[in-house]
Amino acid sequence: MTQYSALLPERLSRLEELAYNLWFSWNEEALELFRSIHPVKWETVYHSPVRMLLETSPEDWARLASDEAFIDLYEKAIASWDAYTGRKAWFQETYPQHIGRHIAYFSAEFGFHESLPIYSGGLGVLAGDHCKSASDLGLPLVAVGLLYKRGYFNQKIDHQGTQISEQVTYDFNKLAVRPAIRNNEEVHVFVELPGRAVRLKVWEVRVGNVPVYLLDADVDGNSYDDRSLTAQLYGGNQDTRIQQEIILGMGGILALRALELYPYVYHINEGHAAFLSLERIREHIRGGLPFSAALEMVRASTIFTTHTPVPAGHDAFPVGMFEHYLGELLYSLNADRQAIVELGLDRSKNVFNMTYLAMNTATMRNGVSELHGAVSRDMFKGFHGNLNASEIPIGHVTNGVHLRTWMAREWKELLDRYLPENWRTHQSGREQWAALADAPEETLWDIRQRLKERLILYAKTNVEEQRRRNGQPDDSGSVFLRPDVLTIGFARRFATYKRATLIFRDQERLDRLVNDPERPVQFIFAGKAHPADIPGQKLLRDIYQLSQTDRFRGKIVLLENYDMNMARYLVQGVDVWLNNPKRPYEASGTSGEKAALNGVLNFSVLDGWWQEGYDGENGWSIDADNRADEETQEKENQESLYSVLEKKIVPLYYNREEQAAVPVQWVKRMVHSIETLAPQYNTDRMVQDYTNLYYTKIMDRSLHFSTDNYAAATRMADYKRFIRTKWWAVKIVGVEDPYPPVSFAESLDKRLLKTIGVIVHLGEIWYKDVAVEALYWEEQANGAWVPVVVPFSLFGEAVSPGTYKFEGRLPAHLRHGPHFQLRVRPISPDFAHDFEMNEVTML
Ligand SMILES: *Cc1c(COP(=O)(O)O)cnc(C)c1O
Repeated sequence: MTQYSALLPERLSRLEELAYNLWFSWNEEALELFRSIHPVKWETVYHSPVRMLLETSPEDWARLASDEAFIDLYEKAIASWDAYTGRKAWFQETYPQHIGRHIAYFSAEFGFHESLPIYSGGLGVLAGDHCKSASDLGLPLVAVGLLYKRGYFNQKIDHQGTQISEQVTYDFNKLAVRPAIRNNEEVHVFVELPGRAVRLKVWEVRVGNVPVYLLDADVDGNSYDDRSLTAQLYGGNQDTRIQQEIILGMGGILALRALELYPYVYHINEGHAAFLSLERIREHIRGGLPFSAALEMVRASTIFTTHTPVPAGHDAFPVGMFEHYLGELLYSLNADRQAIVELGLDRSKNVFNMTYLAMNTATMRNGVSELHGAVSRDMFKGFHGNLNASEIPIGHVTNGVHLRTWMAREWKELLDRYLPENWRTHQSGREQWAALADAPEETLWDIRQRLKERLILYAKTNVEEQRRRNGQPDDSGSVFLRPDVLTIGFARRFATYKRATLIFRDQERLDRLVNDPERPVQFIFAGKAHPADIPGQKLLRDIYQLSQTDRFRGKIVLLENYDMNMARYLVQGVDVWLNNPKRPYEASGTSGEKAALNGVLNFSVLDGWWQEGYDGENGWSIDADNRADEETQEKENQESLYSVLEKKIVPLYYNREEQAAVPVQWVKRMVHSIETLAPQYNTDRMVQDYTNLYYTKIMDRSLHFSTDNYAAATRMADYKRFIRTKWWAVKIVGVEDPYPPVSFAESLDKRLLKTIGVIVHLGEIWYKDVAVEALYWEEQANGAWVPVVVPFSLFGEAVSPGTYKFEGRLPAHLRHGPHFQLRVRPISPDFAHDFEMNEVTML
């Protein structure tokens, strides 16, 4: 059928199936199989099974086909794959009624593996891990993204520490992608851009059982400029960006339709993909729905995950630019032109904001950690009138990482020995992880040391290559990272909020840590700065230059070209994973979760996932008073960084009987860290949360809204229109709050209740279409104040036409005004949450 099947001997014919499925990247047998074809070449083809197949000669295949050890590996891997695809997984067991109802997951980047470079950092890796767990759990998920001809970029560091961003053009024939095929033909779709239609070829990547469809504009028939629209991830100017996002969102929907896929759920992973909602609105309008009902249908079936805790980080385009590029769409929906613009309009800046579009076209929205959920609710308060931030309908699902991808093989084998047999498919069961404590400390420490030695070898090669290329003398004989030294890792995108150079603020103090004769510390840094991020590149240069000074050479090293391959070495190999972002800018962070799976201890600012993961014993925190101004927090973080290292981390690491012995207390902390963090911060748990909290609810809503020719969507649109036009009349016209209700002594008894009456004028709105409630704040034992909502019910007959009395019972000591508020809001059984409409009247 393809170029390879001809090459492969009959006995090994299914190698092709394995090579074209990213499943190999998290399956030990498949990895071992491909590696053993030729261990050296496995490195030169950069762990790409497809290239391995292409570059193995017929003679070698003939030899391997009669090598019984190889055939044995092959058969094991194939058996493992067949068992994987044939099994009934969590989703099928838990939600049999939803089998076959697709979830479409849209993202601008996907990090599956180093051999498929269509990611830049954490967002992409998260999307990749999401797909992998979706496959493991049996979700009917399909993903949509872009296939970048030039990926992101390869990073080189020159002899002055300047980042060189090297462009690489990928040959898609050598990646694990193949043209998507429908009815024996390649799938192509056309996206309208000003004055032309751009043709997109649809490619397919298999990730276990999850298909990922990637769009590519580099095809015959497109102009030179159009062909480069999908050249680069986050490249080009705003014009490129908006067109890429149109291709992703609108082209993505067209691609699904061309593949005859009609998902029940649409997941917008970060605002980049939000144009998908516009294409879907257009689709429903073409099908005969009015704009308002089309919007309700789209809203009911969409979930939006935001990842950006700062307003400036959200993608936004000038309104004129939006109108220029979406002119065709606006024209085809002529009657609702302004309504469409309003879906993304940020009036304060007169821009079309992709996050606003996503928020306005998705009833389900979430942040990616508990803290980030709260930050997002606060940031998007403006979307919901004058509600309390805690009631804003944005939830959270804390990010995780795909355990089988990120945990070192040595750890997995250890878990096989100590944990119940099914631990791989039941990762979130907390109890079973406790069995890890039965493993001898020497064994645990031995794994830790072995992984560190592997990392040091890897780092040495990386740095030697840098030096060789930069024409620097060979110094392979001098001091370079020692396996007996406490090793701290810091690697991530060099965005400035991540403050890569915080540890360098006091170089004397750092010098004392690094060069302590008894208890030294060494550091490994890595990360790419976006080519347009000049401050980020300066941070890199600063670290590089310090790493070349006499006192730090070979003890603080900067590796080049951070990617998923290097990330695995680092998160598995260091002792401590350092993360010191400016709070609360790290929406979640995931690299620390990868480290935690490998017994690496986190040392981090209490931001993102670590705010909830840290229990005081499973790592360390870098502290600051969160209420202080930024400068103070930065100073406090800096002080905490040094002092925790000096007083806690270094002493614990070197606390042992003799030099080579096992640091028992350290190992205990490692075990505690794995036990408390692994069951929680993995993507199986995360994807299960998405499924339980959002996906299955959206499936029900999608079905409900669309049956009987979209009756519920149409009703919802009509109801909202009615409420919006009539709400002006709603008014709280009287409050009956008896006072003094009770004696002073009685008023101290918070259980004593009194009846409050409220007279509400509703005009033409029927009383059954509103909720009347009181809201007050109650102090918790821990000092936090939480809102308490008390529903009121109708009392007697209407006071006069359109005016009603409602009653409710509240603690007797509360008074209307100073202590509690009353409010009226519209309700509908079809609302996804209480505040689906902004119309809320308060007094
Ligand atoms: C996990 C990962 C990230 C995310 O790191 P954070 O520290 O969470 O920002 C970025 N890049 C790569 C290559 C990764 O594997």
